[in-house]
Amino acid sequence: MPAFFIKTYGCQMNERDSEQVATQLRQRGYTAANSEAEADVVLLNTCSVRDMAEQKAIAKMQNLQGRKRKNPGLVIGFMGCMAQSRGGELATLIPKVDMVVGTQKYHKVADYIDQLFARQNPDMDSLRQPIVDTAEEAGSQNTIKDHALTTSQVTAFVSIMQGCNMHCTFCIVPSTRGAERSRPINEIVAEVRSLVTKGVKEVTLLGQIVNQYGRHEFPAVDGKTPFTQLLYALEEIDGLERIRFTSPHPIGYKKDLIQAFRELKKLCEHIHLPLQSGSDRILKAMHRTYTADKYRRLVDEIRAASPGIAITTDIIVGFPGETEEDYQATRKLVEDVRFDNAFIFRYSERRNTPAADYPDKVAEEIKDARNKDLLGVIDVIAEQNATDLMGKTVEILVEGPSKTKASRLMGRTRTNKLVIFEGDNRHRGQILPVKIIDNTAFTFYGDPVIHL
Ligand code: SF4
Repeated sequence: MPAFFIKTYGCQMNERDSEQVATQLRQRGYTAANSEAEADVVLLNTCSVRDMAEQKAIAKMQNLQGRKRKNPGLVIGFMGCMAQSRGGELATLIPKVDMVVGTQKYHKVADYIDQLFARQNPDMDSLRQPIVDTAEEAGSQNTIKDHALTTSQVTAFVSIMQGCNMHCTFCIVPSTRGAERSRPINEIVAEVRSLVTKGVKEVTLLGQIVNQYGRHEFPAVDGKTPFTQLLYALEEIDGLERIRFTSPHPIGYKKDLIQAFRELKKLCEHIHLPLQSGSDRILKAMHRTYTADKYRRLVDEIRAASPGIAITTDIIVGFPGETEEDYQATRKLVEDVRFDNAFIFRYSERRNTPAADYPDKVAEEIKDARNKDLLGVIDVIAEQNATDLMGKTVEILVEGPSKTKASRLMGRTRTNKLVIFEGDNRHRGQILPVKIIDNTAFTFYGDPVIHL
């Protein structure tokens, strides 16, 4: 059977979607190629969040098109967010592309690949048109549910919803992923139970606006939103040790979710809390529906409920109209909140988003300077936080060999800090106490506290 290779750009949801496609292709008998060069089918699962990600995927596909000219049997296709937003335009731009499949059609990819191989029959040559499918499909959120676990894999992503209705003015996601659609709680619980029977100890729940899960489909029960109901249901699963979620919106942290951080032992002490800007004027222009002050109060409430919780964030610098004063308000908020880490993005204009038409664009060199300055602030805070952690004993879940040195093991603390240590492979999947002895930037090094 032909071998396939999937190259994934962008976020964890794309990683999860690629895993689903890979599982279905394997079920049809296709094999996973070790590299793109060995594959008969190469699929690019694309991202549209930044222009750079789109350009990279287009350049890669042009390169694959060159290979296909020499090897016409090679099947090449786009999937994911850029496929959704640009559709047939991509097939015009790259005429040799065989398939362009959007974000609500991942479950059809295996069928389409079968059809493409059937068309290689010379009798069917007249049908040689690219397959383009970017239609919406009711219930497509329920199709991302199969896993391709490697042996001894102890962490897994679980997709619980698709889409976003928030319409932040800089964001292309509502048009690439569609409206919010959530899976039923019982199906998610069954999926996690099944993962646990295969050795998974930690799940990360995924959604574009994950803590607003189920708000259109399921009622609140006893003051608990559907997302919190899901967390409490997962807490009951024997053998599951840790629960994480990403990516949330600050407005989704209602009282019941904050209470869950007090009550649920499996809910890890790490939240991602995208700030985007510390200026109320810019937050309003971004349509972020909270103020800097409200955000600060939320951080205080979360820290009161879960002392020592790690907080990470996303920030955009150089949004249209951002003045030096606006930027300084962001900088001050970052210094005050003391984030454990932050992903800083220079504003990138996205087509069909309101902010693309906003006046007062910020010059690239100003974006660069603010980006660099803010990264410096984050680094100083990270170094101070790391010093606080030195000599302390933390609990890690051992995930497997370190990516940089296979003879060492890596794991994560409940606060999502990466820890490398000398250990034995039999400790994979165990929860171990480790004493932190050293660090470089955002990686820590530890000594197991118990005798190994
Ligand atoms: S909440 Fe997140 S995914 Fe939704 S529009 Fe805003 S930035 Fe995009």
